[in-house]
This record gives sequence, structure tokens and C-alpha cells, in this order.
Amino acid sequence: LVRLRARLARSQNSLGKGLLTLLSREHLDEDTWEEIEETLLIADVGVAPTQELVERLRERVKVLGTRTPAELRGLLKEELVALVGTDFDRAVKTESGVETPAVVMVVGVNGTGKTTTTGKLARVLVADGRSVVLGAADTFRAAAADQLQTWGERVGARTVRGPEGGDPASIAYDAVKEGIAEGADVVLIDTAGRLHTKTGLMDELGKVKRVVEKHGPLDEVLLVLDATTGQNGLTQARVFAEVVDITGIVLTKLDGTAKGGIVVAVQRELGVPVKLVGLGEGADDLAPFEPEAFVDALIG
Ligand code: GDP
Repeated sequence: LVRLRARLARSQNSLGKGLLTLLSREHLDEDTWEEIEETLLIADVGVAPTQELVERLRERVKVLGTRTPAELRGLLKEELVALVGTDFDRAVKTESGVETPAVVMVVGVNGTGKTTTTGKLARVLVADGRSVVLGAADTFRAAAADQLQTWGERVGARTVRGPEGGDPASIAYDAVKEGIAEGADVVLIDTAGRLHTKTGLMDELGKVKRVVEKHGPLDEVLLVLDATTGQNGLTQARVFAEVVDITGIVLTKLDGTAKGGIVVAVQRELGVPVKLVGLGEGADDLAPFEPEAFVDALIG
């Protein structure tokens, strides 16, 4: 939480701070409410959630009558937490419930932080006492397999890889096979995210999914989105959701943006929770997403 707060504080014009300043005005007139709406929209919260939040906040402020800055902060916090959602299961599945390892597929457009996230997640899991096998199925980006293997060596997880430009599905298949042979707890599969043709992506991810399921269930499909890309990230999310059943979202590079509102928008769009957030390039910079802590960090 301290780290999250420090990272978010570094981003200028933090969403929550802007809202608090607006709410602490002497008179909450129409202009102020409009500015509050604007602030939320700029932060990528999305139109419908913004309207809902402002409406609820206005109603509660009206009912409450007198209001101190502390009361307003409390109201804002409650409404933001409600908006972010508290009843999602945000744990990454690390048990398959069957004999085979839990299989987690990591998807997303290249450059969003997929490989880094896979490495960081491996680190978290190993630190938690689980054995991990990595599948380097991003054979499109030349350095991806090396990058993943470096993570693997660092954390003590074997990396299954193939030739450059090799068949991602066959690597994924081998990775799960290796995971079963080793009796690993979790197999993490990094994939390529080329978006130039949807059918190409669909073919590739669909195939990876099918071969993985020859061994057992695919337990988790994590979509990695770069928070700094804003609405563009939503468009990506839509395309991926058409191709595979996304079970969770990882929002990376939250350290580099004030647009934390994308958390709300993307959850609505896909109907699945943000499970993890990326807060930097370092090995420790992956955190579970906790609504209360997140909103606290936003408001400051
Ligand atoms: P991939 O192509 O999706 O596998 O992307 P990479 O994992 O190679 O990451 C692309 C770049 O984003 C790298 O320079 C990463 O260090 C950086 N990156 C990944 N996650 C984060 C994050 O949470 N915060 C910041 N600031 N950079 C990140």
C-alpha cells in the first residue's frame, strides 16, 4: 500500500486529489459538479460510471446537509470503492482442483508488459512456496523467450521454449507437459499479442488454449493492459475478449499515469476483475489489486 501510494502520488494530477479539491469548495454549484465529472472522465472512468458516481455523491451531499472536508473524503472514498467493486474474487487461480498443475495463460498486446508480468508473477508464486514452470510461447518477439528465461533463472523456475518463430501452441503444450512431469503447482504461459489481424490472433490463442486443454483445464487467462493507453486499452480488451474467455485483468504501468479510472472502465467492459497491478519495472512491482488500498492511494 505504501508503495502504491508513493507511485500514484508521483503521477501528476492524481484523480482523487483533484476530486477532493473540487469537493472542498465553499459552494458545490453546478460548475463544480461538472468539473468533478470532467475529472473522472479525464481519468478514464467512463461515461456511465462517472454519471452514476456523481449522482450518488450529489444525493448524499444533499441529504447530509453540512459537510466537513473529512466527511466529504469519507463519502468520496465509499463511492469510489463501490465503483471499483468489492465483491469480485481477485485471487489468481493457482490450484486447478485436479492432479495437473494450474495453468495460467497471459495474453495482451506486445509492449503492454506481458513478459515482465509473467516473470513477476512467477516470482510472487515461488516466494509463496509454489513450484512454477514457464512457457515462452511468445515466439513472435525475438527477445521474449530470453527475457522470460532470465526471469525464470532468477526465481528458480524452468522455462520451456522453442525455436524463434516456432509454434506457440506446441511450446504451450510442452510447457504443461513439463509442468506435469515435474509435479509443478503452476504453469505460466506467456503468449504473443499481435493485433494486426483478429483472425490471426484468434487462431493462435485458440490453438494454444486447445492444446493446453488436452492436458487439463485452463484455469486462468490474464489479460495484460497498459494503463497509460487509456481508451485504447479498452479497445484491445474488447478484441481479446472476443477471442478468449478472459478471467482476470492485469493493469500495468499504473505508476506512470493518473488515469487510474481505467480500472473501473475495463472491469465494466469485460465483467471480470482487475486482479493484479504493475507499479514499475522492478521485480517487486506487481501487487494484488485491493479496491480500498487503491482508492486510499488515489485520494491520498
Ligand atoms: P510484452 O511485449 O508485453 O511482453 O512487454 P514487456 O514485458 O517486454 O514490457 C514492455 C516494457 O514495459 C518493458 O520495458 C517493461 O520493463 C515495462 N513494464 C512492464 N510492466 C511495467 C509497469 O508496471 N510499470 C512500468 N513503468 N513499466 C513496466
